Amino acid sequence: MSFSSDVKTELTDIACAACCETQLSRALLLFGRACSGVSLSLLTEHAGAAAAYAKAVALFSGVTPEISRSESGNYKIQVEDPDVLDAVMGELGETRNEKRQLCIGRIDRECCVAAFLRGAFLAAGTVTNPDVEYHLEFSCPSTHLAKELIALLEQTGIEAKCTKRGGVNIVYIKKSESIETLLTLMGATENSLLLMGAKMYKDVRNTVNRRVNFENANIARSAAAARRQTEAIETLRRTGKFDELPPELRELAALRLENPESSTAELVEMLGDALTVSGVNHRFGRIIKAAAGNPAEPKKEGDA
Ligand SMILES: [Zn+2]
Repeated sequence: MSFSSDVKTELTDIACAACCETQLSRALLLFGRACSGVSLSLLTEHAGAAAAYAKAVALFSGVTPEISRSESGNYKIQVEDPDVLDAVMGELGETRNEKRQLCIGRIDRECCVAAFLRGAFLAAGTVTNPDVEYHLEFSCPSTHLAKELIALLEQTGIEAKCTKRGGVNIVYIKKSESIETLLTLMGATENSLLLMGAKMYKDVRNTVNRRVNFENANIARSAAAARRQTEAIETLRRTGKFDELPPELRELAALRLENPESSTAELVEMLGDALTVSGVNHRFGRIIKAAAGNPAEPKKEGDA
């Protein structure tokens, strides 16, 4: 079962008041595959969503439509009976605007907003498994309904955006907090908690990964620096210039050769904290310069 399917199962198990039942049914019908005076239809992979749609048709027309299975295993409801269509469109008709477009219209009660969104999600929503990605979307039958849906979501503090995919208006939500809020509002509290859990797990994993990457990068940098220092010291020895180094550089070079894998901080500790890390790095800089052919600079005044 997909996460989407689990959410729909949770949403179809909710009992609601008569006012909410009406809004839930309106949303199921408005966001179905077809909703006009010619045809009402829904195609869904979720048995519970199909049953809820059939109940919505029955609520407005008194006739329960048949649910069939398509070859791919989806549930299909198709209503073409003019009497049923008239009855349903009569109920939805009052929410037509001057352009004769069906619209969501005003939903006054907060409980009904939640029920309406639940219906829209059951008919046209999907949500991706939060382990993979944060994405919830509604495929909207018209641009007008998409805009209205965005406004309705905004009213509840949820930020949604709209795009077109294959000619269909997609209203989508990407923010994990907004998806959590919507799932909770619609009544899918269990799955909302699952999403929060997945998010927490992902956050912790990301933090650990970032820290490990940071530490690995540090180790690699420090190993590369130690290698450059050792090479320089060996060059100086090969060319007989090692003994020309001032004593403080000879002491550090000897320590490096004895401890080829130690970090600068560890060398500082071995030197009894007489120098700082930048002091040691400065001395290594002088050794590398000397190996490159430049004579080691005499110790400057104030030099560590
Ligand atoms: Zn209500």
